[in-house]
Amino acid sequence: MSESRTVLVTGGNRGIGFAIASEFVAQGHRVAVTARSGEGPEGSLTVRADVTDSASIDAAFSIVEAELGPIEVLVANAGVTRDTLLLRMTEEDFETVVDTNLTGAFRVVKRASKGMLKARFGRIVLISSVVGLYGSAGQVNYAASKAALVGFARSITRELGARNITANVIAPGFIETDMTAELPEAQQAEYKANIPLARFATPQEVARVVTWIAGDDAGYISGAVIPVDGGLGMGH
Ligand code: NDP
Repeated sequence: MSESRTVLVTGGNRGIGFAIASEFVAQGHRVAVTARSGEGPEGSLTVRADVTDSASIDAAFSIVEAELGPIEVLVANAGVTRDTLLLRMTEEDFETVVDTNLTGAFRVVKRASKGMLKARFGRIVLISSVVGLYGSAGQVNYAASKAALVGFARSITRELGARNITANVIAPGFIETDMTAELPEAQQAEYKANIPLARFATPQEVARVVTWIAGDDAGYISGAVIPVDGGLGMGH
């Protein structure tokens, strides 16, 4: 097992974030989650934060640092969709998604980087999506926000790599969570027909890749985009 670390997962109250936090707890790490509502898994510390609000992030980080120590592993997972076709998409639909998925990641990474630089250790994991590089009709806002995380992680790698801070992107395909449950059944069937593995993934299948990329065995990987998509995005 990897050395025990202090881990913070944003949006850890449900879905993929909850599964990621559970997996880190199961592997013996000190785990905190940010949540706007609800609670993280048993054994984790829940702190309130909205990733669109820097002051709430700063307050949440300060609590985690006081209770568990400086954050060594950061998983920027909180994300939203506002799907609609380009011609119908409002500027607000676009900005809300970018503010949460991209600027939200910037806010938490910036706040975490201070402690990581001091410690000369950090593992940053950004939860993107297969559609970031594959594209998706009705998701220009979401795909743009998720694609941008790649340039973000690679720039962090160039800027902070020499301080033993890695930054990687995980690009899940379709995962069984509230986000995909909202899709009409016919659409879910159509998506499955295009996935080489012919099924959606469980949140745990994403979580185990996240704990691995943040763990000691993956210490020389940085700036990578790791698909967890059943082959859907091959070559993208
Ligand atoms: P869910 O919709 O199940 O959960 C989203 C999480 O993000 C919730 O914890 C939610 O908190 C949190 N969140 C949203 N907005 C904010 C905000 N402004 N501040 C703080 N937290 C916020 O999503 P998933 O678990 O499915 O997705 C998690 C991540 O994985 C997202 O980044 C998503 O884009 C990505 N992803 C998901 C895929 C899927 O198939 N499900 C596929 C590819 C990527 P609250 O409960 O308070 O709303």
